Amino acid sequence: MTIAVSSGAHPALVLNADYRPLSYYPLSLWSWQDTIKAVFLDRVNIVAEYDAAVRSPSFEFRLPSVVSLKTFVKPSRYPAFTRFNVFLRDKFQCQYCSSKYELTFDHLIPRSKGGLTTWENVITACSPCNLRKSNKSCEQLNMWPMHMPFRPTIQDLHNNGRGFPPNYLHESWMDFLYWDTELEP
Ligand SMILES: [Zn+2]
Repeated sequence: MTIAVSSGAHPALVLNADYRPLSYYPLSLWSWQDTIKAVFLDRVNIVAEYDAAVRSPSFEFRLPSVVSLKTFVKPSRYPAFTRFNVFLRDKFQCQYCSSKYELTFDHLIPRSKGGLTTWENVITACSPCNLRKSNKSCEQLNMWPMHMPFRPTIQDLHNNGRGFPPNYLHESWMDFLYWDTELEP
């Protein structure tokens, strides 16, 4: 059986049973293939659809753009330790000079001195600052970050996230994102 699908990735936003995104950071998105599987396994409700459809000679199925889980999943309090989330915690700013360009990561305690790659030791730094700091300690250089790195909660990232939305947001997702921002009159 051949299935034709209109072009594009068409991911579905996945909501928990309470209609909040299952995860914000990263945003919970499923491929259309996984989404259709979940629909046929009766694990999700379809909340909104794309104009696009998958077609075979015998059926046509519109691709869901938003689905909600039928069973509530307890959300985790802490976001994943990812590059994007570290940048988001630090508001996409070098923590030494506040530059917004050439961003990379610096280990506060250098790896060569046993510093770990953790929320508490990794901060956003621009390339020039990173080069300057190299494998020296903050004390040696008297070079301190604006904020000491910490493990953020989902809420911390959520507060910063409004300023840095993901690159692509389908219009049907907007009702379920940033629901606590002020509504336009
Ligand atoms: Zn810098």
